[in-house]
Amino acid sequence: MSGAGSKKVAVVAGDGIGPEVIESALAVLDGAGAKFELIHVEIGLARWKKTGLAMSEEDLETLKECDCILFGAISTPPDPNYKSVLLRIRKELDLYANIRPFQSQDLDFIIVRENTEGLYSGLEEVGVEESHTMRVITRRGSERIAKKACELAARRKKLTIIHKSNVLKSDCLFLETCRAVAAGRGVLCDDMLVDAAAYNLVVNPQRFDVLVTTNLFGDILSDEAAGVIGSLGLCASANLGTDHALFEPIHGSAPDIAGKGVANPVGAIRSAAMMMQWLGEPEKARRMEAAVQRALACGAKTPDLGGDCGTADVTKAVVENLRIF
Ligand code: ATP
Repeated sequence: MSGAGSKKVAVVAGDGIGPEVIESALAVLDGAGAKFELIHVEIGLARWKKTGLAMSEEDLETLKECDCILFGAISTPPDPNYKSVLLRIRKELDLYANIRPFQSQDLDFIIVRENTEGLYSGLEEVGVEESHTMRVITRRGSERIAKKACELAARRKKLTIIHKSNVLKSDCLFLETCRAVAAGRGVLCDDMLVDAAAYNLVVNPQRFDVLVTTNLFGDILSDEAAGVIGSLGLCASANLGTDHALFEPIHGSAPDIAGKGVANPVGAIRSAAMMMQWLGEPEKARRMEAAVQRALACGAKTPDLGGDCGTADVTKAVVENLRIF
């Protein structure tokens, strides 16, 4: 897949179904004519089992040196002292904006999740009788995620700020800051409590366009949104910062189906398409998405969507459809 003077893409296949769906994404990128140098980096549980380390400082440097990262999924090692590698990567590379598009025949909305603070600040005191986790909301963090969300909403219909400011006073700062950014940019905006948003995502998802929210709320609402769309396996994401970008399906390593060849590769393929868009190849990204949609419409579906295709069948169908578009 390499080309002279080409961009460098770090590939972290990871654990569980990560390597299976990344293999599929790479096959589709190849079929779309993508040209870049792939740098494979072993990070995660398999690495931890071999070396006692899930990710080294050198790995982190490699990730920083590449133009962007294509990420599968990693499992959490059974170590009480282990801290999430993905959270560390998001923090170290300052990947503050997690953009998660959800599309189906009649739905089209985007969850923009703040990715570096909130309840995932990592500031914890763990005791036997009592434990504390610090929820961090800053004006700077709220402002920059609101700006990212407004960039998207300005090209679409409207922004909805999701919060719990009636109970969590830290969310007053988030809400007020997001409102000010939206007003300053002339973006149509409303807001909703997170519990109401969880309900509305199920009963009236058409009311949403671009949602912006804090870290934990975004994490939970995204999985719910994936269920509304049809499967976790369909959904992609971009983790964007100022200098770095990481693209990953929103699902985890799914150990329950790993190695069975039935993982839905669409989320990983769509993540690779988002990567192509970000790398300045919108035509390849468009062809990849069109090929996915046509393959699904022709019945290339894994069991999570009620089909009986394997990961390899769906990949083949998408690659074949690339020739049409
Ligand atoms: P992790 O601890 O890595 O987050 P998990 O099993 O807790 O793993 P997910 O990997 O997100 O969380 O899986 C949740 C459920 O969704 C599992 O039953 C899994 O089999 C299913 N699932 C996730 N991704 C896919 C996929 N790509 N194709 C089919 N099913 C999937």
